[in-house]
Amino acid sequence: MTSPVLPGLDQFIRDLPKVELHVHHVGSASPRIVSELAARHPGTVPSDLDELRRFYEFRDFAHFIEVYLAVVALIRTPDDVYYLTHEVAREMATEQQLRYAELTCTPFTSVRPDDPSLGMPIEAYTEAIEAARLDAERDFGLVLRWVYDIPGEFGLPSAEATLTYAVDHRPEGLVAFGLGGPEVGVPRAQFTEVFDAARAAGLHSVPHAGRRPGPRRSGSRCVSSGPSASATAPRPRRTPRCSPTSPRPAHRWRCAPRPTSPPGPWPVSPSTRSPPSATRAWSSRSAPTTRRCSPRR
Ligand SMILES: [Zn+2]
Repeated sequence: MTSPVLPGLDQFIRDLPKVELHVHHVGSASPRIVSELAARHPGTVPSDLDELRRFYEFRDFAHFIEVYLAVVALIRTPDDVYYLTHEVAREMATEQQLRYAELTCTPFTSVRPDDPSLGMPIEAYTEAIEAARLDAERDFGLVLRWVYDIPGEFGLPSAEATLTYAVDHRPEGLVAFGLGGPEVGVPRAQFTEVFDAARAAGLHSVPHAGRRPGPRRSGSRCVSSGPSASATAPRPRRTPRCSPTSPRPAHRWRCAPRPTSPPGPWPVSPSTRSPPSATRAWSSRSAPTTRRCSPRR
């Protein structure tokens, strides 16, 4: 849509340099990027762009979740992580004139500590996003920073694992610690100590809030209160309130809501319900065999 009042206003806005403080990693994948990933891992998501656009036509909320998780499942290797990140950065910089972005990532769903055969070591994940971050700044002039998000529906084990990824395997670009997923049935108080530890490690606290039906209220207050322990100058942070954006394929997904139960096919195994010390073992798998993350094109 163009402005009837000020011709050229739309182009002016398009060309303005911008900052994006809340956007999701996998949720930012455009049809072009998903198509490439689907071609790499055929089976559930079509790689043909026309078929993909039809695939993205959400019938309802449950179908939106189904589609989102199908795309999440395409991120299987460190090279997939690199490709997704670098290409998202390319589109942010060249199509939206972004100059700085804080990308919310969920390493837990890529590491898959509950089933190592399906996930990748955290070392490989970290190397991939950091390589993409450095290359994005070199290639596009876009400064990327990370927010590590707990998938709340996986409970405290996922929080402790994400804390381990943030503290023991901290990527240089990590600036904040977050929490997503449904608030109904997932009490926020259980995450308080994890957020205390994240703040003590110098990370900003940016839990999601408002992912519940009815009047808005912050169920995340218990984890968002308290001063930031960041070594950098404190700054006010908005608590993101998320909803899916337009289902039109040309639009990015933001803040994709998560289902009220752990998305299949992997349940959280009893073995993951262990104390924080045990969670560190999840990330101690050996690094991949000299896998290099590099652009494919
Ligand atoms: Zn969000």
